[in-house]
Amino acid sequence: MSHYLVITGGVGGAKFALGLSTTLPASDVTFAVNTGDDFEHLGFHISPDIDTLIYTLAGLNDTDRGWGRREESWNFLSTLRTLDEETWFQLGDRDLAIHVYRTSLLTQGKTLSEVTDVIAKKLGINHFLTPMTDQSLRTVVVTADGKLPFQDYFVKYQSKPIVEAIEFSGSELARLSPGVSEALANDDLCGVIICPSNPYLSIDPILSIPGFRSLLSEITVPVIAVSPIIGGKAIKGPTEKIMNEMDLEAGCSSLSVARHYQDILDGIIIDTVDTEQSEDIAALGLEVSVGETLMTSLQIKQDLAQHCLSLIEKINRSIERC
Ligand code: GDP
Repeated sequence: MSHYLVITGGVGGAKFALGLSTTLPASDVTFAVNTGDDFEHLGFHISPDIDTLIYTLAGLNDTDRGWGRREESWNFLSTLRTLDEETWFQLGDRDLAIHVYRTSLLTQGKTLSEVTDVIAKKLGINHFLTPMTDQSLRTVVVTADGKLPFQDYFVKYQSKPIVEAIEFSGSELARLSPGVSEALANDDLCGVIICPSNPYLSIDPILSIPGFRSLLSEITVPVIAVSPIIGGKAIKGPTEKIMNEMDLEAGCSSLSVARHYQDILDGIIIDTVDTEQSEDIAALGLEVSVGETLMTSLQIKQDLAQHCLSLIEKINRSIERC
């Protein structure tokens, strides 16, 4: 028996999660999802990354638009518009039903972990999805124009303000969710995988939970990541812009991603086009594996998942574990 803890953000992580969930049985994986993007809007608790994971694993996601549900309708939003209410955050009708349901269960006193589990199961997902924490931990983007809650930065201002720093409000009081703690305590835990997600906005919120980063740096099973950067570019979203604004020595590159996670990683998968960075990354003390990482088909997603499992096995063999 093997178990894997997978740390993920939204869109990039969900693509990888689909590959892994169609490669491994449900009992072998815990998907720990970023909730730093969560927010309250029009009275609803919205968990964008959890929903991206749920819609993707349930086959309900809109692959053309790249976010939200397919076969979506927009009656709620157009009615709001007639009421002169805020419509900067696009809420489709089908999506809205999930937010209404989540909010009502939370109001009844259920935890976000419990609610996530119920929704995932009701939508037919067998794999276990858990929020990183049940506490409120909110990503705040410090920009040249002032501090912005994540969704204001990302949606309202379309990631345009220049990023100076990123803060995680409430992180000092946050604890890992029971699902993440159980995965870490699982005797069959064989490895930890950091998805090709935005390191700053999707993975750092999880790493900011007190004790988690140091736990990963000391854990006896391999911790590996898949780089979200291919050929100096992000596939989607503000990762590239943020990395360029952060004044990193190696700019927007897989090398910078490796440096960012250096203290917790044993290995990293980078794309074939970045092969020339292997030597510099290996010099950080990491096992570097090169392969196709642009997930344009289910087959490539599954191959990448398999690549991760092989890398974990290789590192485990080299330290005679698992
Ligand atoms: P978000 O929370 O919705 O922004 O999603 P994530 O943080 O999980 O994903 C955003 C990151 O995914 C970006 O940095 C992209 O470069 C990366 N990404 C998206 N698709 C791919 C892909 O096919 N391959 C790789 N390697 N990275 C990807």
